[in-house]
Amino acid sequence: METMVQRFIRYVRINTRSDEHSTTVPSTQSQVDFAKQVLVPDLEAIGVDHVMYNKENGFVIGTINANTDEPAPSIGFIAHMDTADYNADNINPRIIEHYDGTDICLNEEKGIYSRISDFPNLTNYIGKSLIVTDGLTLLGGDDKAGICEIMEALRYIKEHPEIKHGKIMCAFGPDEEIGIGADRFDVSQFPVDYAYTIDSESIGHLEYETFNAASGTVILKGISVHPGAAKDIMINCSKLAMEFDAMLPGAAVPEHTSGREGFFMLTSMDTQIDTGTMNYIIRDHDKQLFEAKKTFFTQAARSLNDRYGREVCEVIVKDQYYNMYEVIKDHMECVEVAKAAMVKAGITPICAPIRGGTDGSKISFMGIPTPNIFTGVENLHGRHEFACIDDMEKAVEVIINIVNIDK
Ligand SMILES: [Zn+2]
Repeated sequence: METMVQRFIRYVRINTRSDEHSTTVPSTQSQVDFAKQVLVPDLEAIGVDHVMYNKENGFVIGTINANTDEPAPSIGFIAHMDTADYNADNINPRIIEHYDGTDICLNEEKGIYSRISDFPNLTNYIGKSLIVTDGLTLLGGDDKAGICEIMEALRYIKEHPEIKHGKIMCAFGPDEEIGIGADRFDVSQFPVDYAYTIDSESIGHLEYETFNAASGTVILKGISVHPGAAKDIMINCSKLAMEFDAMLPGAAVPEHTSGREGFFMLTSMDTQIDTGTMNYIIRDHDKQLFEAKKTFFTQAARSLNDRYGREVCEVIVKDQYYNMYEVIKDHMECVEVAKAAMVKAGITPICAPIRGGTDGSKISFMGIPTPNIFTGVENLHGRHEFACIDDMEKAVEVIINIVNIDK
């Protein structure tokens, strides 16, 4: 029988990178193939019922029915199958047993190391077993670790009918990394009381506060003439861009904020003399401060237009997702159940607001409170990503404890 680690290694070798420039759903054919040719048959082999692939949204969904007449909540577990925007061709994972706490050589030939001086978090894993990359790709533990942990828990539950539980559902979706996978999630196909994404990082993490998030686009409108004849005529969009950015609070940027402090972040810009675009993201945990930041952003544009006495810029602000705590605060049992499940597994829960969003940010606002639980994977989205086998096994134990009505 294939172990969870063997399954994980089989899955991460399959390239399921998403593509933000694609217009298809899912964004890449590799995710469709992975869903239909791997996840569906593997869930069926475990004995999960009603396994289906929804081609409208790219989600694979399965159910294990309740095995008790006692009242029990129906609980969902969600993970994403795509990997981040980083090389995912020929992923070649390697297991390090009983890690000794020294620098890890990922690729001897190319001299690529995960060094303790760069990643002091590695020292938390001394004595544990890790899965690392060959330094040329990401690992894809984000979020195939989540998928494998859910599947391993479902397999265990099917094999141990003495564990009494309510209805359990699983959903594996596409395109989380490009921020759109959950937009088409169909809650009518996922009738549960609450759910968890298994998509956080190191052991103990339990997250139920995310950012409120918006994108802000600035369209700059300049005037280009020959520099020799430019006096009192030229309006240079590169200069406009600097003026606009200077109006935003300089301390409210990601590199100078932490905890619940929000920010504006200039993610990219492209300017010529007469045209230009700036792309920002706007983030805050607090709804009022979030609204204030969006207003401030719009006011900066108005102020710049006033300065020039003409429309030199236009802004487009679009909400992306909201802080799931707005929903979860009225359904705190899902948090309490997860905390108790961790304590039962000997884990101290770590609950901190995350400086980002999850699929659960959107799914919570669709009506299913959905906190986020650790996977045991760290240093995501690059060559230094690693998964801790011991902590992956703990995530499985937490999932089983969550559904076990015998608390
Ligand atoms: Zn993820």
